[in-house]
Formats: sequence, C-alpha cells, structure tokens
Amino acid sequence: MSLSRKRKADLFGSVMPPEGGHEPDMEKIKQATEREGAVIAVFCSACGSAYGIKKDLAEMVLRVADIPRPGGAFGGKFFLANGCTVCSLGPPCDSVLRDIV
Ligand SMILES: [Zn+2]
Repeated sequence: MSLSRKRKADLFGSVMPPEGGHEPDMEKIKQATEREGAVIAVFCSACGSAYGIKKDLAEMVLRVADIPRPGGAFGGKFFLANGCTVCSLGPPCDSVLRDIV
C-alpha cells in the first residue's frame, strides 16, 4: 500500500515542493534567461526543465496565473511552474514569480 499524497505532504511537506520535486537550478535558469529573445526563464518543478520565454508568452503566464505584472522588466525573476511545455505539452501552469538568487 502506497502512501497517500496527503500523508507524503505530512511527512515531507516542509522540504518538498508541492508537486514534482525538482529544486530550481539557478545556473540553468540564468542560462535560459540569456537565450536570444527571452525576457524571463521558466523552471518546471515537475520535470526540472529550464527555458527562456519571449515577452508574449511571459505576459500570458502572468495572466493565466493571475500574477500582478512586475514593475518594468522581468529582470532578476523567473517563473517557477508546476508543469510546462516539455512535460505536459502545454504552457507553464501553476506558476509563481520568484527571484533569481
Ligand atoms: Zn515540465
């Protein structure tokens, strides 16, 4: 019998992301941000992918996730998503905006 998600959350809740389990890799995120045309990077906690996205997709991610637009540019930020075009063949979902540290 496997542990339920609830039980796992009770056991590991404070150390594990809600889904997936990949911790943001700041080096990958920085490299992705520097890709030509990219304004911000997405890091997917479900599959561990990091990739740069263009302005129009970044604006869409903000709208879908109901995130207030950061003042000015996206510099120094990335989207932490739980599902992305790589692993779920859709746009980044359940995104939150985080600082690159
Ligand atoms: Zn993914």
